[in-house]
Amino acid sequence: MRVVAGAASDVGRVREGNEDAFLVDDRLALFAVADGMGGHQAGEVASATALEALRAAVASDQPINEAVVTANRAVYEMAAENPEMRGMGTTLTALVTLGGNRLLIGHVGDSRAYLLREGALRKVTDDHSLVEELVRDGRLTPEQAEVHPQRSIITRALGIDADVEVDLYTVDVGEGDRVLLCSDGLTTMVRDREIARIVRTEPDVRLAADKLVDAANDAGGEDNVTVVVLDVVEVDPEASEALDADAVVEAPPAAPPPAATPAEAAPTEAVLPKPRRVRAVVLTLLPIAVILGVAFGALAWYARRSYYVSQLHDRVVVYRGVPGGFLLWSPTVDDRTDVRVSDLPPYERQRVTAAQPQVYTSRAKAEARVDTLRTATTTTTTSTTTTTAQPRTAPATAPGTRPKPVTPPTTRPPTPGTTTSP
Ligand code: MN
Repeated sequence: MRVVAGAASDVGRVREGNEDAFLVDDRLALFAVADGMGGHQAGEVASATALEALRAAVASDQPINEAVVTANRAVYEMAAENPEMRGMGTTLTALVTLGGNRLLIGHVGDSRAYLLREGALRKVTDDHSLVEELVRDGRLTPEQAEVHPQRSIITRALGIDADVEVDLYTVDVGEGDRVLLCSDGLTTMVRDREIARIVRTEPDVRLAADKLVDAANDAGGEDNVTVVVLDVVEVDPEASEALDADAVVEAPPAAPPPAATPAEAAPTEAVLPKPRRVRAVVLTLLPIAVILGVAFGALAWYARRSYYVSQLHDRVVVYRGVPGGFLLWSPTVDDRTDVRVSDLPPYERQRVTAAQPQVYTSRAKAEARVDTLRTATTTTTTSTTTTTAQPRTAPATAPGTRPKPVTPPTTRPPTPGTTTSP
């Protein structure tokens, strides 16, 4: 990752000394602001001591949260060794860049880190201050906190105790993102809206830092004011994964920032799966369609390539199809023969009128069966009896279960004595 940073610090219009300090170390990719406190210039010592210890700790490869703890110990021990510095302390908000697209921020006190992304300014860090705690408890509104007379009272600082709880934030950034570190001398004097306007409109980091300091002084300059403005110029997101393991040794104590990935990555990821899914559906449906088509064809073949011999109005008829029909396919009359059912011997007559006649897989076989029936007819000279003969129905089979001969496909009037077979 490549960043450029500009910084500015000013005593303000009221205070006699500047107890703030900042650190911009491009080689270590380490940036920080510290806001010291304590009488007799002890505040200046506290912030300077903290930043120097921080730099040394990061230079010796300490993770940022450990480096802040080291800085706390340095301020604490210096206060312990020098009675005139007793009670001194400092805030510290420190940022390191990692190789990929990730920033780590270690934070104690009421200095702040903001992230400007696509024109929107978001506060990354939580203040360790009395008013912030009152706001969190619902006893103050954020608006009341901004003007509260005790808004400078902090609840956590470096140098007060031998140990300190450090808030750690990880921020994934994209090119064009801008980070602001600042002491409370800016945020107690300038509203967030005006801070956002300046950070958004001034492209040069150094000029932006100067303008923020000017804004605090224009608003009264009641406190020291210090800002670091940092632009993310280049990121390498793929490198972040490998760095995660050794970047943080201990689990982060505080809430991680909500914004995780560069904003421009989101639409690309949202679009990509779509065509992939459509293609998957097509690939899944295609074999099903093929299977269904094959099955349909097989069923149609089965339904239409079958023949059976039955009766229709006292005639032996060759039907094409399956007795009773099959799915969509009803049997059709294929050949109305000259063989009369009434001429058949009882045994054959019963077979022809059976509910489940034998099915043949070819027309030739069905015709062969018809030939058998023709030779079995006992009478060959009964052509004149047709008018008087009662149509015979099978006595042995239940009428309801018989295969209902379907209406002939084309209305060919039954002409007695004439075969219609080809
Ligand atoms: Mn301050």
